[in-house]
Amino acid sequence: MITEFIQAKSPKEALEAIQKAGEGTVFLAGGTELNRLGSSITCSRVVSLKKLGLDRIEESNGVVSIGSMVTFQQALESDVVPAYFKEALRFCASRTRRNMATIGGNVTLSRDDSYLLPTLIAAKARLVLGDITHEGKYNEEDVPIREYHAFREHFTGSLILKIVLNKVNRFVASDRFSRTAQSPAAVTVSFGADLSSGAPHDVRICAAVKGSGITRLIQVEEGVSNGQFETPEDAATQAGNDIAFVDDITGSATYKRYLLGTAVSELYRVCLGKKSKGGAQ
Ligand SMILES: Cc1cc2nc3c(=O)[nH]c(=O)nc-3n(C[C@H](O)[C@H](O)[C@H](O)COP(=O)(O)OP(=O)(O)OC[C@H]3O[C@@H](n4cnc5c(N)ncnc54)[C@H](O)[C@@H]3O)c2cc1C
Repeated sequence: MITEFIQAKSPKEALEAIQKAGEGTVFLAGGTELNRLGSSITCSRVVSLKKLGLDRIEESNGVVSIGSMVTFQQALESDVVPAYFKEALRFCASRTRRNMATIGGNVTLSRDDSYLLPTLIAAKARLVLGDITHEGKYNEEDVPIREYHAFREHFTGSLILKIVLNKVNRFVASDRFSRTAQSPAAVTVSFGADLSSGAPHDVRICAAVKGSGITRLIQVEEGVSNGQFETPEDAATQAGNDIAFVDDITGSATYKRYLLGTAVSELYRVCLGKKSKGGAQ
């Protein structure tokens, strides 16, 4: 139960408050997970991020910076947020939740049915993080989201300040499979590639699979980059080789593997279609 609410006015103050208050103290963003019945997070004190000025979306030469406190709905209504990211934001079908849920909160949670993480990894997004040392010195660092995801424990306690989409011409497309738009997803997958050389390279394919977590499909990424697959269906045969699928309420392990394979081949096909039209999304 939350018994104390701390209002910070700057990222440094927010980090100091967490450091001072100690265990059981967490950042409060939109509160959709923290206040959810059966939430994955237990805490007794929260440090509100509301007054930190992290709710702005900025664009310069096509590079879009989204403050971590920007809500899903705010990003959807922005003229500068790329279409591929709006596609992922719409995976959260509840408008009520879209009005509260923040992008920073979603990245931090990195759930196995994450709305946004597969797309952000495929897009090669970057995160700007705030941290404080034991001596109280405040630092900011800019890290690839792939690194944040791969070394999660290292970033525990970091404050996400913003998410930067700086690969202006990158192709990115995503897909999500669930029983209903409001149900948890069995599989969410995203495919990103640079098409500037005429063939897909610098490929990132990332899948969130319920019960198994969020995984980059590195073997398939390499196969696509090396032109190893004759058809998109060939890529599907390797998708999920490294994933331990499980049966659960969203579907059987076999069904999830099937969904992942067909989604990867379909997204690869869309990517090849863009390439032949000479454009990225
Ligand atoms: C009914 C229901 C269904 C849901 N289904 C899904 C789903 O299918 N997929 C999905 O991905 N999510 C789902 N969620 C979870 C949630 O709505 C989203 O993930 C949302 O984006 C979380 O953002 P928030 O601002 O509400 O986070 P909060 O609840 O405020 O915080 C969540 C966690 O993130 C930390 N945090 C927040 N912002 C930052 C920051 N800037 N830096 C560092 N740490 C931070 C908090 O300390 C806390 O630990 C669901 C929630 C509900 C209630």
